[in-house]
Amino acid sequence: MIEEMRAVCKDMAHAMGLVLFPRGCAGCGEPHEVLCVKCARLFSKRYTFALAGTVLGEGFASARYEGAVRHAILAWKDHGDEECDGPFADIMATLLCRDECLARLRGYGHVLVVPTPSSPRSVRARGRDHMMPLARSLARALREQGVDAKACGALEMRGMHGKSVQTRSARQRSRRVAGHIDVSKRMRTALLERRDLAVIIVDDIVTSGATMRACVQAFRNIEVPVFGAASLAYAPATGT
Ligand SMILES: [Zn+2]
Repeated sequence: MIEEMRAVCKDMAHAMGLVLFPRGCAGCGEPHEVLCVKCARLFSKRYTFALAGTVLGEGFASARYEGAVRHAILAWKDHGDEECDGPFADIMATLLCRDECLARLRGYGHVLVVPTPSSPRSVRARGRDHMMPLARSLARALREQGVDAKACGALEMRGMHGKSVQTRSARQRSRRVAGHIDVSKRMRTALLERRDLAVIIVDDIVTSGATMRACVQAFRNIEVPVFGAASLAYAPATGT
């Protein structure tokens, strides 16, 4: 009973909040929407980017990182718009819950959905690890399709201050992340005991792919296969 009342109060508070501070679409500001139909449609593509050393040899992204897509991702990632977790999780699931991927993923005993790591400083600044809710939702969506999937923050970033998308060139970014991403000691032992395992790496924005490649390498170092990767958006790198 108390739980029910609590839920009703929460709904009322949410509804009152919307009256007092009506929200707009995270992408374009259209009133009363978390992500309007028009902006959601921008995330319905399927770009591929090369990702050597993985089972698929490529990763998928649902949009180009520009305009309303960029606004929506920044609102969610850096300005605390946690209501975007839901639509973004659905977008991520659409990228991977496809017959050709599912058929192969069902062949593994266990599939770990692993977010690219943020530095401890970025996590503190945001107040949360923003990729984990998406990784959990993707794992749930995969389980509903018969894949034994679980979200796991197996990677960590050491000795780096922030993961900046603004770093100028692909080469600079590559140099910046190389050697700073590794499987956490705690997870390393657990993963080494599992032989029928594959990993899917998830990220918010892929630019040069340097972060993704560093994540793939971290798993290759302990001989855990990476199936592929999914990202909300793809920003083709300028400069090499
Ligand atoms: Zn919109």
